[in-house]
Amino acid sequence: MFSWPTNYDFCYTLAGVISKEGVGLHSGEKTRVTISPYEKEGYYVSFRDKPNEIFKLTQDLIGSTMLCTAIKLGGRNLYTIEHLLSSMAGCGLSFIHIEVDGKEIPLLDGSAIQWVRAFEEVGMKKAPKPDHFFREINKSIILEKEDSIVVATPSEKTTIISTISFPYKAIGTQTFVIDLNPQSFVEMIAPARTFGFKDQFQELSELGLIKGGSLENALVCDGEGWVNPPLRFDNEPIRHKILDLIGDLALVGLPKAQMLVYKGSHSLNALLASSLKN
Ligand SMILES: [Zn+2]
Repeated sequence: MFSWPTNYDFCYTLAGVISKEGVGLHSGEKTRVTISPYEKEGYYVSFRDKPNEIFKLTQDLIGSTMLCTAIKLGGRNLYTIEHLLSSMAGCGLSFIHIEVDGKEIPLLDGSAIQWVRAFEEVGMKKAPKPDHFFREINKSIILEKEDSIVVATPSEKTTIISTISFPYKAIGTQTFVIDLNPQSFVEMIAPARTFGFKDQFQELSELGLIKGGSLENALVCDGEGWVNPPLRFDNEPIRHKILDLIGDLALVGLPKAQMLVYKGSHSLNALLASSLKN
């Protein structure tokens, strides 16, 4: 049986080709993604209607919309890429080509688990180089944005200590600590779904912004409780925040660092990613 590595000492690629389709969060249209091994390090994207135009995903192409992470490729935007990036980085995968038929990556169930299960089906193989997956850092980094803060210090492994605090009984204050590696990512982080709030959900639906949003692809909180229980973990929200952080760092490489994150967000993660790059 396939077993996940317990460190990022090696870099892997897929041993076969996977394909998945689903509904796009923004458009509500069906979109299909085919992922295969590629000869170059990193993540590469092409669109089905222009197969010869292959773009390398880099941090400077990343933008964000109100709802998701988007990446600008040859004059068009590819939306909702963050959970797929998290799945690949969390599993230690690089040397990957992604072909997209549509404008978005399907949201699937709002977590990373369906990507991970698809990777498991075809298996992984060691990439030709480099001989490690993580990014070395040699100095500590401290970054703040409003009341959020992130501290990253060099370490022997990749550890994340993350806290969120919401004034809603259903979420409250949650902290999660993880020594990250492909195995712990798959078991503890990948199944955690994205979450949102009922009033926000209604507002966005009325504006026509989340045509593909449903109770099947996000946990919805009404303050006191959850509209669509059961949760997969008592602390599913903080685990999903870590899933997002991993996705936001995927294009610069997961640092060999201890990271403390208080009230993390995509914009704080983006600050950390650009400071790791320099
Ligand atoms: Zn997310």
